[in-house]
Amino acid sequence: MFPEPANCPLCGSAAERIRSSQLRGFRYSCPSCGSFGIESAALVGLVAPASTRQDLARFRAYGHLPLIQRDKQGVRVGPGRV
Ligand SMILES: [Zn+2]
Repeated sequence: MFPEPANCPLCGSAAERIRSSQLRGFRYSCPSCGSFGIESAALVGLVAPASTRQDLARFRAYGHLPLIQRDKQGVRVGPGRV
């Protein structure tokens, strides 16, 4: 699998993404938001709360790849299994 150009779903910057079956979605590398995973189900019509980017930074600080998921409660960020 090779990275493909894609706009960051959080900030719209030109970023790269790579498909990840482990994440059930994609792993993004954004020059502004950094590296994070996102499930395909969360990508559709994503409206991320303003706190999302802070959540990403917090999980990275603890050595996790942050993973953006969406469930009935809405968008949330958790530690990815990487
Ligand atoms: Zn971004």
